[in-house]
Amino acid sequence: MADTPTLSVTMLGAGQEVGRSCCVLHYRGKTIVCDAGVHPAHSGMASLPFIDDLDWSTVDAILITHFHLDHAAALTYITEKTNFGDGKGKVYMTHPTKAVHKFMMQDYVRMSSSTSDALFSPLDMTKSLAAIIPVSVHQLITVCPGVSFTPYHAGHVLGACMFLIDIYGLKILYTGDYSREEDRHLVKAELPPVRPDVLIVESTFGTQTLEGREEKEQRFTNLVHSIVKRNGHCLLPTFALGRAQELLLILDEYWKKHPDLHNIPIYYASSLARKCMSVYQTYIHTMNANIRSRFAKRDNPFVFKHISNVPPQRGWEKKIAEGPPCVVLASPGFMDNGPSRELFELWASDSRNGLIVTGYSIEGTLAREITNEPEEFTSMKGNTIQRKISVEGISFSAHVDFSQNSEFIELVGAQHVVLVHGEQTAMGRLRAAMNSRYKERNEDVKIHTPRNLETLQLSFRGERVAKAIGALADKPPQTGDVLSGLLVAKDYSYTLLDPRDLRDFAGLTTCTVTQRQKIALGVGWALVRWHLEGMYGTVEEGLDKDGIPTMRVMGIVDVKQTAEHELTLEWESSSSNDMIADSTLALITGIDKSPASVKLTTNSHSHSYEHSDPGHVHPHANPEGEASSVMRIQRLAMFLEAHFGEVELHMPEPDEDAELPEDERRQPALLVELDHAEAEINLVTLVVNSSSDTLKKRVEAVLDMALTTVSSLSESFVSGIPVVSDDVALGLSQQDKLGASVPEIDSASAVAMEVAA
Ligand SMILES: [Zn+2]
Ligand SMILES: [Zn+2]
Repeated sequence: MADTPTLSVTMLGAGQEVGRSCCVLHYRGKTIVCDAGVHPAHSGMASLPFIDDLDWSTVDAILITHFHLDHAAALTYITEKTNFGDGKGKVYMTHPTKAVHKFMMQDYVRMSSSTSDALFSPLDMTKSLAAIIPVSVHQLITVCPGVSFTPYHAGHVLGACMFLIDIYGLKILYTGDYSREEDRHLVKAELPPVRPDVLIVESTFGTQTLEGREEKEQRFTNLVHSIVKRNGHCLLPTFALGRAQELLLILDEYWKKHPDLHNIPIYYASSLARKCMSVYQTYIHTMNANIRSRFAKRDNPFVFKHISNVPPQRGWEKKIAEGPPCVVLASPGFMDNGPSRELFELWASDSRNGLIVTGYSIEGTLAREITNEPEEFTSMKGNTIQRKISVEGISFSAHVDFSQNSEFIELVGAQHVVLVHGEQTAMGRLRAAMNSRYKERNEDVKIHTPRNLETLQLSFRGERVAKAIGALADKPPQTGDVLSGLLVAKDYSYTLLDPRDLRDFAGLTTCTVTQRQKIALGVGWALVRWHLEGMYGTVEEGLDKDGIPTMRVMGIVDVKQTAEHELTLEWESSSSNDMIADSTLALITGIDKSPASVKLTTNSHSHSYEHSDPGHVHPHANPEGEASSVMRIQRLAMFLEAHFGEVELHMPEPDEDAELPEDERRQPALLVELDHAEAEINLVTLVVNSSSDTLKKRVEAVLDMALTTVSSLSESFVSGIPVVSDDVALGLSQQDKLGASVPEIDSASAVAMEVAA
């Protein structure tokens, strides 16, 4: 298409680094920011993303993927200390993320307020928290006109999600941190059902391959076991939340199976985590089947049998450190300060002790430095300490490794892939590996690895994605299928719909254009004619100007035999013509599926309508009328069947409710069933009843159409029982509907065209 706007992507953090994730998307005047984290290896202002490079009052929304500090901890600063509040920007995260984020931030404020470079006060935090809009996974959220998004499960930690963002029809998938391997408590990341134009994906592990879950767990439990058996203390620095819960589930189960370990305590040194346990228990329904089934059996997996909390007094670290062998999970995972650092310093010079680094350790932190097994290191007080403690790394951090990430990137199938949240080398390797794959297959996919503040300008190939809705979306198209319908363009987004659905979905009438609709059909021309005549009376048959056999329905719709098993409908578009075309189409497609299956015979007058109003013509006095009423019901049923599949006729037994007062007796009705919902059309009043509002509306629309297009139908349905006038029966006559002024389409244009699915 002629105008090709560009999407700009700017990393304010996590560009060729891990930490302070903050990604700014700008398209057609809209700005969305994904994540607002701090860099764990820094403190104060230095830990923030490059927030001065954005006018925050222009931001429409900030979306936070998960509660980890490198994705969420800068949020308070942005909402309270920048001009974000001057704009209309909103902040979104999932319910569990918001619940845990609150505890994480309380802890973060408490930790940082003891230092001189605290970024914000507890009051700022409270205000920031209040403004967060919690959302559910799979919910479609509209931020403002033209901008919407849907969260999908990302695995990784409780509540983590990816965002599929739609800005004026351009689709961007931002993964945040994600995992494609189901662990003990979480579901794995989902593949969103829509192919986005741009994928912004983490690249933490680059081209590294991580060991499988089972062998990893086994190596871990064996290692812990051997450390405590050699009379050592085992230190597991972890974040208070997220992976710690996974490790606890593993250890608790292992201890259960090994009675020889029962005298060895496992300490979980985090008051924060204890608080958050309630959140984990609240959100059990968002976890995987393993957890949910245990919970259903009243075996709450988060009530651990072999895990103890550390004593609440200050100085517990020293007490535990000097005590008998034990296992301690202590935060923070990076060991830069706090309990994990303190215990490490106390245990470092004894070779019986063991340290297992279980998370991804960020460059610049002690956890990373120590994996190089230095002979000595500097304590927080500045002394030099000998390192004798054994050091192992077993990563339980729930990030994708190379095979999972590359598979996911290929499955998503975006034109542009932006790698973020990875160190330069890891990212570079992943890019090279993906590039060579795509080159081999001759696919044009661009892989980008922007540095912080280096703005990417992405433009897109001419093809646009149109969303199929209504009847067109009922059946997923097979590869190679061509979907035909109306292409409606509005606000740069495209919708493809069946002309029949136009009124329902768009509230628009079509412009005067010639509509053309092709139908593949397995039945003969003569049968089509028979059905058309049955419905519309005579049809004019002849050849069109190109010599193609044509039947003209109601002087409006041409049904042409354009190929052996193909019919083409052609008509001058207008709302009433479209309806006739629509009913013709429905009728013809219905022929193929099932002939009208209402088992009505002419001797159905045994079910005659004894209860009919005696003031009107008695049915038996008018056998002809009855026959024609049967035909009308058959035609209506046929019409409905073409739309909804098989239709059932319910006739009340004449004597079954004779005792009842007249207005309580059951009346003849047609029953329509669709997607497990039922709708009943009372053949006397033509009132539609259904427990499903959607189905009720659809049935009413079809009934409405039937009455307008098939003139013989609107006279009277059940002979002897005058049909209440259309206005009463349907609430609104067709004439009113058509007469009602429909606003002219300005920015939208409706054109008939074919779009490849
Ligand atoms: Zn994370
Ligand atoms: Zn992260």
